[in-house]
Amino acid sequence: MPLGTQNQPLRVAIIGSGPSGFYAAEHLLKQDKVIEVDMYDRLPTPYGLVRGGVAPDHQKIKSVTKVYDKTASNPQFRFYGNVEFGKDVTHADLAQHYHAIVYAVGAQTDRKMDIPGEDLPGSYPATEFVAWYNAHPDYRDYHFDLTQESVAVVGLGNVAMDVIRILARTPGELGKTDIADYALEALKNSNVKTIYVLGRRGPAQSAFTNPEIKELGEMEDADVIVPPDDIALDPFSQEYIDSGIDKVAVKNVQILRELAERGDTGKKIKIVMRFLVSPVELIGDENGLRAVKVVKNELYKSDDGSLRPRATDQFETLPIGLIFRSVGYRGQALPDVPFYDRWGTIPNDKGRVMTEQKGGEQVIGDYVVGWIKRGPSGIIGTNKPDSVETMNMLLEDLDAGKLLTPVTASRDAIENLLKERKIRYVTFDEWKYLDELEVQRGAALGRPRLKFSRIADMLQALAARS
Ligand code: NAP
Repeated sequence: MPLGTQNQPLRVAIIGSGPSGFYAAEHLLKQDKVIEVDMYDRLPTPYGLVRGGVAPDHQKIKSVTKVYDKTASNPQFRFYGNVEFGKDVTHADLAQHYHAIVYAVGAQTDRKMDIPGEDLPGSYPATEFVAWYNAHPDYRDYHFDLTQESVAVVGLGNVAMDVIRILARTPGELGKTDIADYALEALKNSNVKTIYVLGRRGPAQSAFTNPEIKELGEMEDADVIVPPDDIALDPFSQEYIDSGIDKVAVKNVQILRELAERGDTGKKIKIVMRFLVSPVELIGDENGLRAVKVVKNELYKSDDGSLRPRATDQFETLPIGLIFRSVGYRGQALPDVPFYDRWGTIPNDKGRVMTEQKGGEQVIGDYVVGWIKRGPSGIIGTNKPDSVETMNMLLEDLDAGKLLTPVTASRDAIENLLKERKIRYVTFDEWKYLDELEVQRGAALGRPRLKFSRIADMLQALAARS
């Protein structure tokens, strides 16, 4: 009996319920085959970075979850929230119950700057701040010292832009979002007056996109300041901009110039954009950060033609009491799954997991999608073609008979295993109930939703339902 038919459905486990996981599920479920997709997440809530990463003041972007809900409404789809891969269920467990396993776990930690003082109190990866204001249960009890007047954000990516906006928005602006209630309270009492944005390269090499830098100049009570020395382009960058090949960079520079011209209009918070500077040391003690020593960089053309930063002998010390390092996310290794430490990804060939990134062999039955496949790049939509590519490899392997041969390939069997282990898994229907509660609680306050931030509270609300 061929696999993928009524009598023998193809059973696929997807680990992680963010965009890449949902696009993988969507592609599988639209095949002309009988495929059962079970999606696992260590949190009771789905949607990955759409819930835990996308900034609360970008509500429109979050409506993409409607597409994921449509996938989840397929009777061949099940969600097992609150189940951790490697702990509650292992690779060996899944190999006994599924023909294929798809890793869609994203990039869960941050890249380091590797400078002295990086671990001082007051120095945090932006990823932690983002997870905190988005009510991620793991970060719920974090405390960021917002009594500081002077804060720095390192990096010129869109995550840096998100962090800056959340630090600079007024309570009125934040109050219209689904930011975590405790974060809203903390930010209402914030003393932050100056936010230094520290970019190691120039305006023309910024990683943020046009709407994000434009938005920075449109906030209620924050001015963007770009010092004349920082907005000036070096000859290499000028040549690059004049060539017009990078339309995003051309527009970014144009917007930055407009912001530089507008300058200080007397708003409460100043966002000071500093280009061509790299932190070389964080200065402080066990009581916290006091200052950041930065070196001025110059750009040079590297062998591959890209413009790279190189330190000069000019230093500057900025008085800064809180710093967020927004220099990129990084993937983490999963138990019993190969990992390529250099890139922080699972080694793969078009999404087929390999034992090594170069010259390895295929790990039969294992597939990877999203940031843990290609690294932390691109917007939400980038994950769709990425997941489709991997799922097409899986379907090719199905045709070639190159999948796992589980002993007990049935829904009942896996659910029995979870029950035997007393794992309180949360179904999609239960999530929709929590979702409804969050929206109701938010509506009472004139907000899009009031998020649960503790797993225990979510489980309690579900227990109270029955
Ligand atoms: P990113 O776009 O890769 O930006 C990382 C930034 O960190 C770059 O400016 C990079 O500079 C800088 N950097 C790296 N190492 C550094 C170091 N050692 N010292 C100083 N600076 C350093 O990453 P991201 O901001 O984390 O965003 C991840 C992805 O999510 C991106 O594709 C982003 O567009 C996307 N995202 C999109 C949105 C949105 O659409 N609104 C929101 C959030 C995130 P160099 O260029 O010099 O390397």
